Amino acid sequence: MSFRDRPRILVTGGTGFIGSHTVVDLVEQGFEPVLVDDLSNSERSVLDGLEAICGRRLELHEIDCRDRAALDRVLREAGPIAGVIHFAAAKAVGESQRRPLHYYSNNLGSLLTLVEAMIEHGVRDLVFSSSCTVYGQPGQLPVTEDTPLAEPASVYGATKQIGERILRDVVASGASLRVTLLRYFNPIGAHPSARIGELPLGDPQNLVPIILQSAAGLRGPIRIFGDDWNTPDGTCIRDYIHVLDLAAAHVKSLEWMARQAEGSLIEVFNVGTGRGRSVQEALDAFERATGRRVEREVGPRRPGDIEQIFAACEKAERTLGWKATRSIEEAMRDAWAWQEALGRR
Ligand code: UDP
Repeated sequence: MSFRDRPRILVTGGTGFIGSHTVVDLVEQGFEPVLVDDLSNSERSVLDGLEAICGRRLELHEIDCRDRAALDRVLREAGPIAGVIHFAAAKAVGESQRRPLHYYSNNLGSLLTLVEAMIEHGVRDLVFSSSCTVYGQPGQLPVTEDTPLAEPASVYGATKQIGERILRDVVASGASLRVTLLRYFNPIGAHPSARIGELPLGDPQNLVPIILQSAAGLRGPIRIFGDDWNTPDGTCIRDYIHVLDLAAAHVKSLEWMARQAEGSLIEVFNVGTGRGRSVQEALDAFERATGRRVEREVGPRRPGDIEQIFAACEKAERTLGWKATRSIEEAMRDAWAWQEALGRR
């Protein structure tokens, strides 16, 4: 089948970290991704990496998803769109506290505009990027999809909770939409080809990009944010998932929705590995996987940090037939290969 006959999937935020890896999986699974991105937090060069992996140039529409006229044009001209994966959003927790209006406008404005356009153009299936941040510090671990949501600790977190709520309300109103909400845990790693990965635009805030820069000698020792938490080694616990495993969950969600009867639906899934790792364990995994040492020092706790969280992922396995298969060492090795490739650019 020529790629022109494949089901076309609109991927907003398609040149971003998770978006670009999902694009690869879409191509591998027989879909034709149509990328939308305003390049506010990614680069056009991602298309070169995607071309090297996928063997052909993919289509990118450089637009802001809040621009309804531009979105209409894409939906009209890109051929019949079978489904949408909506990644496009601003995601820095700290920045969201300083720029609340930007975060609400960007993250929610794009969602509203996109869903209105989907309904008008008769596009039914949507996968929405949510986050485990909606759970706050859960009372019980691992968290299941039924764990009550917490009061959002940041504007970023609020945009994810409100985004989920908007989609529930639209589906409840009888709109002809099928929606999968994916609550991501901590995505790390890169494509093993080292052609795409996480682009550190600005000063990275997440643990693994900081580890990579530290190991590459681009910054000093890694500062562990507190070792007096109530965990076995005193450092915070997260569920780190290889970005390619996370990417696969999106494609499985599209396939699952396409198998469902007509009518509307909305379903939520945790997307993690089911294993919690402390900051120290994540650092150990990096050192084991790469043979590089990372200097560590312990600093104060980071305000707003959650002590520990990891996912129960049985629902996604049962329903979508998806589960994470890659190890944290594999993710660290792939992330490091990407960092080395960046250094050679
Ligand atoms: N972390 C750390 N030092 C850093 C960056 C992060 O100790 O320089 C810790 C942080 O406290 C958290 C974990 O690493 O426990 C993951 O942090 P990240 O910001 O990547 O993800 P999130 O906190 O949003 O889950």
